[in-house]
Amino acid sequence: MYEHSNTAFKHEIKEQCGVAAIASKSKASSYIYYCLRALQHRGQEAVGIAVFNKKIESYKGIGLAANVFDDKKIKSLKGKTGIGHTYYSIKLSKPENAQPTIIKTEVGEIALAHNGILVNAEKLRKQLKKKGHDFTLGCEEEVVGYLLADHLRSSGDLIKAIKSTLSEIQGSYSFTMMLNGRVFGIRDPLGIKPLCLGKFKDGHVIVSESVALDVIDANMIRDVYPGELVEINQDGFESHQLFNKKHRAHCFFEYTYFARADSEIDGRSVYETRKRIGWRLAKEHPVSADIVIPVPDSGRAHAFGFSLGSGIPLAEGLMKNRYVARTFIMPTQKLRDLTVREKVNPIKSEVEGKRVVLVDDSIVRGTTMKRIVNMVRNANAREVHVRIGTPPLISPCYLGIDMTTRDQFIAHKNTIEEIRKNLDADSLGYISVCGLLEALLFSKSDLCLGCVTEKYPIDIPPEKHRFQHTIQDYE
Ligand code: AMP
Repeated sequence: MYEHSNTAFKHEIKEQCGVAAIASKSKASSYIYYCLRALQHRGQEAVGIAVFNKKIESYKGIGLAANVFDDKKIKSLKGKTGIGHTYYSIKLSKPENAQPTIIKTEVGEIALAHNGILVNAEKLRKQLKKKGHDFTLGCEEEVVGYLLADHLRSSGDLIKAIKSTLSEIQGSYSFTMMLNGRVFGIRDPLGIKPLCLGKFKDGHVIVSESVALDVIDANMIRDVYPGELVEINQDGFESHQLFNKKHRAHCFFEYTYFARADSEIDGRSVYETRKRIGWRLAKEHPVSADIVIPVPDSGRAHAFGFSLGSGIPLAEGLMKNRYVARTFIMPTQKLRDLTVREKVNPIKSEVEGKRVVLVDDSIVRGTTMKRIVNMVRNANAREVHVRIGTPPLISPCYLGIDMTTRDQFIAHKNTIEEIRKNLDADSLGYISVCGLLEALLFSKSDLCLGCVTEKYPIDIPPEKHRFQHTIQDYE
């Protein structure tokens, strides 16, 4: 069953997503639905739920969870176990690409929901094709499904087969998976993507972020450990620590931008972490100013921290129109420019005649900040200073954030002074990598900092071994 509720762009990228799994005494689908709504910030392009009701039944569609599902559709999915997915990609010209992906194999149907990127998927796909597997879906998850089926056929032991499968795939993954009614959560050996485990009145749950536990009144048991496979059922869970690496490689961008501020990931509150970043930013790049203005919504916690660290009062100088689509994924620069103007508007009475510090989480292309500086100047600010809670982004993310080409980054081609001029700001300061590490309370060896240091936690194989993930601008 598929449904279109809006038009998809044709870009070839596949990135951040949200995953969920439920094992319950009652119907799983409505729990999964609410979890997916809480994870909607991790993907707005498509959504899907698969449940086990003697066989796998699923419903997927392009659009937000609230648009794709209604009461009737949720009720029609009858099983007590199930998984769900919110999709970030804008490559979806076909709704079948929405997840959970259902792979029909000789050992049964496998439903898989994936957050992450497998960097050797193309290479494995070619090998599996030579062995006679017929690929019809054109996605990485099909590769995982066939690998698992092959291993399961030869070993007969599901846990062993999962371990062998994971030994062959490289990249980032937090999976939720369902096979013959059994439900699993799997986190990659470096813990690049978040995944956590909880308990609620009717059973157990695995989700990308803790906000999706809160929404169904589940208590967090703990994060799924890197390299761990967790099987949940209504009464408990079983853990299999499949891989033990010395280090982790958590994606720092989850903390600075991607995750919801009210989530807790790997023992850290995302909101408090952002506040610490803002506080450090104020120490690293002090400035004399009258007010600190957050760029809504992603810069709020950083700005609060900056205000605490600098003693400069916080003011709500920018208002956000919540009904305007995200600018970041707009296909052309012209559209991105226009949408920023529509999305954010200065409150003139707050800004007029003031020396303003604008604080945001990150600058990628510079579109958003350039437009906002311009608006704040037009609202008669006396000075406009810019402070950014992520170090200059210079290198693509191969492991799951939608930043895939070097040329995209304004900081790749320009010095800080050139960027300042380009933004027309009076001053510009980015948090340093050292400052970021202090705020995150992780050591460098436990983080993926690839997009700001160009050093990745795993070898990134050549392009031909990966699926196509390049953003193609249409200008
Ligand atoms: P830009 O206008 O390209 O500089 O975009 C920067 C803004 O987009 C930041 O303020 C973030 O809030 C947001 N952003 C950064 N990275 C991403 C991403 N990978 N996907 C969506 N939005 C992002």
